[in-house]
Amino acid sequence: MNKQEEALSSSAVTDTLAELGRYFYSRGWVLGTSGNFSAVIQSEPLRLAITASGVDKGALTTEQILQIDADGRVVAGSGRPSDEARLHTAVVKARGAQAVLHTHSVWSTILSEAHASAGGVGICGYEMLKGLAGVKTHEHREWLPIIENSQDMPALAGTAEETLAKHADAHGFLLRGHGLYTWGSSLAEAKRHVEILEFLLEVVGRTQQNT
Ligand SMILES: [Zn+2]
Repeated sequence: MNKQEEALSSSAVTDTLAELGRYFYSRGWVLGTSGNFSAVIQSEPLRLAITASGVDKGALTTEQILQIDADGRVVAGSGRPSDEARLHTAVVKARGAQAVLHTHSVWSTILSEAHASAGGVGICGYEMLKGLAGVKTHEHREWLPIIENSQDMPALAGTAEETLAKHADAHGFLLRGHGLYTWGSSLAEAKRHVEILEFLLEVVGRTQQNT
């Protein structure tokens, strides 16, 4: 890929990330400045486009998306990367993900508290599970592990790495009282995983409320 093509694809990535942010905001999944999104621009060495810290996702612009290296240093753009950048690089390394999307939705918050003692949320029997990469049947059981929330980002990233290694089939994980992390082999797949998992979490949450 020549330099011009690289620049084009990186601007297409930032356009898509900004668009996704505004769309997720409209669905109520990233209200205020919550949530953060990233996508791989280049693998070797890693260059990750990621949302800047503290920006309103309902009005997210391409200027609010930076590029960082594998150590979280800003290599393009201005501002500070999201505080959770270490979690994004941990997921990229562990899963070979091309995009990592993180929401702070009502249902991920409620269920991550309600199921904390079980260590995860099990989801089975729903047709929508087939929207997750590699899943062919509604009989699939998706286990979304729950990680205790922390403001200590290096420690949280370490726990996330252990969780990802232990639950090699998981398509996402929950931070307790905080939100959902999911990823994909492309930005489109990661977006689909947010939609599918948010749908499933809402179904599980509403069903439990009614029993
Ligand atoms: Zn968060």
